[in-house]
Amino acid sequence: MAVRIRTAPPGERRLSWWDKLYLPAIFKGLGYTLRKLFQPKFTVQYPEEPIVLGPEFRGRPVLVAEDGKERCVACGLCARVCPPFAIHMQAAETDDPKERYPVIFEINMLRCIYCGLCEEVCPEEAIVMSPEYDFVFRTREEAIYTKERLLVDKKELEPRLRWLAAMRNRQFGKSYRFQVANNIHSIKARSLLRDGEEIAS
Ligand code: SF4
Ligand code: SF4
Repeated sequence: MAVRIRTAPPGERRLSWWDKLYLPAIFKGLGYTLRKLFQPKFTVQYPEEPIVLGPEFRGRPVLVAEDGKERCVACGLCARVCPPFAIHMQAAETDDPKERYPVIFEINMLRCIYCGLCEEVCPEEAIVMSPEYDFVFRTREEAIYTKERLLVDKKELEPRLRWLAAMRNRQFGKSYRFQVANNIHSIKARSLLRDGEEIAS
């Protein structure tokens, strides 16, 4: 079957006398620039002006600290799912109600791609993406964030934790009580639950 190729009609690309002047197009461009001069500006003079980011922003991954300790129960899911193998951890037993804790927890920030998968799979809301985005390292060793450098108090991470809970509740429906079910997956016995805590059905 013959394919009909459409070409420009004769004379379509021929410039008129008015087009050949170019001046109308130049004045049109200048007029656009002039209009923009008096419109609100969105450019932030970083780093003099700090950039305020919403809770949906994925900055440096951090470990949530609660009562001075990590929430993490050393299940290893985050390390397993991390695409560039940026997380290294070692679990150990603890006398706390939870069974295990990470005796070593490190993130190699030269590898991290800020994908947020570690946060997504964590059953304890123990690792979250913080709003921190401007940090530098001068050596490779400095880029290895140890547990002590990763721990951030829960209060500082509240906006992200609230945003995560809202997102998950939307995702799983109203009956999914994410906050209530949080941090009890590895509890040794129900008798160790604090007053008012329950295991979501
Ligand atoms: S944000 Fe992605 S790359 Fe970075 S530690 Fe988490 S899973 Fe790994
Ligand atoms: S997935 Fe969460 S609880 Fe499990 S090891 Fe990672 S940070 Fe800890």
